[in-house]
Amino acid sequence: MMKRASLHTLGCRLNQAETTVLAARLQRDGYRVVEFGEPTDLLVVNTCSVTEEAERTCRYVIRKTLKHSPDAFVAVTGCYAQTGVQELRTIPGIDLIVGNQFKWDLSSFLPAPHALRKEPDPQVLHTRTIDREDFTLPEYGTPDSTRALLKIQDGCNVMCSFCLIPFARGHERSRLRDDVIREAEILVAGGYRELVLTGVNIGRYCQGDLDLVGLIAQLETIEGLDRIRISSIEPTTITDTLIDRMASSSKLCPYLHIPLQSGDDRILSSMNRPYNVTEFTQLIRRALLAVPHLGLGTDIMVGFPGETEAAFEQTLNILQAHPFSYFHVFIYSQRPGTAATKLPDQVPIAVARDRAKRLAELSRLKRLAFAERYIGSTVSVLFESGDMDGFRSGVTANFMKVSVSSNIDLTNHLKEVRIIGASDRWALGRLTTESQPMRTVPML
Ligand code: SF4
Repeated sequence: MMKRASLHTLGCRLNQAETTVLAARLQRDGYRVVEFGEPTDLLVVNTCSVTEEAERTCRYVIRKTLKHSPDAFVAVTGCYAQTGVQELRTIPGIDLIVGNQFKWDLSSFLPAPHALRKEPDPQVLHTRTIDREDFTLPEYGTPDSTRALLKIQDGCNVMCSFCLIPFARGHERSRLRDDVIREAEILVAGGYRELVLTGVNIGRYCQGDLDLVGLIAQLETIEGLDRIRISSIEPTTITDTLIDRMASSSKLCPYLHIPLQSGDDRILSSMNRPYNVTEFTQLIRRALLAVPHLGLGTDIMVGFPGETEAAFEQTLNILQAHPFSYFHVFIYSQRPGTAATKLPDQVPIAVARDRAKRLAELSRLKRLAFAERYIGSTVSVLFESGDMDGFRSGVTANFMKVSVSSNIDLTNHLKEVRIIGASDRWALGRLTTESQPMRTVPML
């Protein structure tokens, strides 16, 4: 009987994209990939070190799996396997720990499927630094959403003082142009209409003379591709050329998620973020003026050492004063090995939580205001799979979630929808009669 493998991803879109590749590789090696939560013979956890809960969640995922599959072989890879190897060694039930340097070779470190058995101590494959230059993904995964993730870049050289990513994922490198285009063409041929460009610092994409805008221009020529979306992008890498492209392109989504982190210059400087608040606000004003209907998101970190109430108020003011459509709020947590752990004036957790709560409430109001702007308008919605209580949901090009009541399967269909109501989670719409031609549901 075929051995079963189950995979679980913690963290970002980049990790999700990479898990699909790991799953494809395990399938090729003779495993039957089953949903996470089902009985399995092998569990692969692709971890993240960005959330403070990496270790706790990892323990939970392993415990949960070993409850229903006590003999499952457990392999842990990803950023936490790179940065938290000592902590991982203490978690019961792990058989293999593979740092990011060897992530793509994970399946070659596994015993043959018929020889999988639990080990008394985990085998560890790990190097302190990541010096591999071979960036290309070994093969393509099967994305599990109607929007396909397309990885174009990895690593970061910025060294923000709170961030472990430069240690976890190594220095910046960009994926070969031909590989990007080939994977994009395969995904589009399989029925995907939207590609989301992912990476750690994608604005730094560079292959010879080709930068991010050049790559987007080439992707735009792929027939059948309706949307190209940029995932999170660092403010210092957004050029006027990119903004102009977004303003004029019929495929590049009018959407920017630009991490601000703090609205206080002193905090930005001690975070080692390479911009100040004025530069950031000038950038977003420029983008909002140039790109009609821009959907604008950001990340904010609260409770960074030295964040006084006045500094927090500055952040609050910036967020209130600009038309962000939402923001993600993170509470600072110390990560051993990062420069910020040595900073004085740590903020009590209760204070940080309270600030996070205030920002979450503001973000809720921003979402509502963004959706309300569209009441009475008609927007194009790319529908995702599934339905909830008779409602089908999808997103607009500027990343507004829209739900309509419909009993037909709209998965991966692009439809015109008239917005008739708004909430702080989605806009409510009604299908209009005109719609885009149907395309098949992805079957890669
Ligand atoms: S830009 Fe800063 S926060 Fe983002 S990955 Fe690089 S070091 Fe981390």
